[in-house]
Amino acid sequence: MMKQLNGKEVANTLDQEMMQRVSELKAKGIIPGLSVILVGDSGASSVYVRNKQKRAEKLGINFDLIHFESDVSQDTLLNKIEELNNDNTVDGFIVQLPLPDHINEDKVIKAIDSKKDVDGFSPENVGNLWIGQPNTLPATAAGILMMLDFYNIEIEGKNAVVIGRSNIVGKPVSAMLLERNATVTMTHSRTKNLPEVTSQADILIVAIGKAKFVKSNFVKEGAVVVDVGMDRDEEGKLCGDVDYDDVSSKTSYISPVPGGVGPMTITALMDQVITLAERR
Ligand code: NAP
Repeated sequence: MMKQLNGKEVANTLDQEMMQRVSELKAKGIIPGLSVILVGDSGASSVYVRNKQKRAEKLGINFDLIHFESDVSQDTLLNKIEELNNDNTVDGFIVQLPLPDHINEDKVIKAIDSKKDVDGFSPENVGNLWIGQPNTLPATAAGILMMLDFYNIEIEGKNAVVIGRSNIVGKPVSAMLLERNATVTMTHSRTKNLPEVTSQADILIVAIGKAKFVKSNFVKEGAVVVDVGMDRDEEGKLCGDVDYDDVSSKTSYISPVPGGVGPMTITALMDQVITLAERR
């Protein structure tokens, strides 16, 4: 019998636990603080930032939005990062990506103090993850693991196949599954016989950015399928990388889009901000 991995429901439940942690911190005089730097006004980024703000406010986390015009100089941005690195009331901060072309994204990411890098994108935190000493973790990958754990899905010893090798999802989720003793196969656009490889998966994570790409012949009977994609179908409707209608009846668990991984990403981010505040 197929069950949905209902990220929205999991997020709501975990919010209660996080609110409790925040109130314990407040009793000690600590208010967790998250800052987000947004450059320009691109529609999608503004929506992502607003969603983070709403959730932070719900949980009692101090949220500070630092908004620059799209023509802000790289130096101004780097100075602001330096200021946040040294501000004790800020536990973590994010520079919302993508940045305008005149700004060197790599330089900006490297300027963030790894102890405050709640996105887990800094080279130091990527390295920490791969040597099994995680500090902060990329939120989508962390959210996927939180969701699997919520449903008590066994990871150890399972065959996990990840489609997509991006720095923000595919690689970190592979490292995290490996850390939890899964046998991990990473696949990508040059993988030969992809359906043959993916149909070995007990746990299949899909993060490629192609609407309804994964069909039932990619999936083993009884597999757990996590769909990270946020795509649009031919009618412009939001959908995932997995063809849900074709695949779901074959799975034991499957995450829908929307309402699956999406809400978990912000949950994992907030969890990390609170954890950083707990370390103060
Ligand atoms: P990305 O940086 O665009 O990378 C896509 C990956 O998919 C690449 O590794 C690429 O392989 C691989 N790929 C592309 N076509 C493929 C094919 N035909 N067969 C096998 N692999 C293929 O992706 P991303 O940033 O991880 O995003 C993936 C999706 O997740 C997008 O829809 C994005 O919107 C969504 N997303 C959602 C959330 C959320 O919170 N829900 C967060 C992040 C991303 P190569 O490396 O060989 O090119």
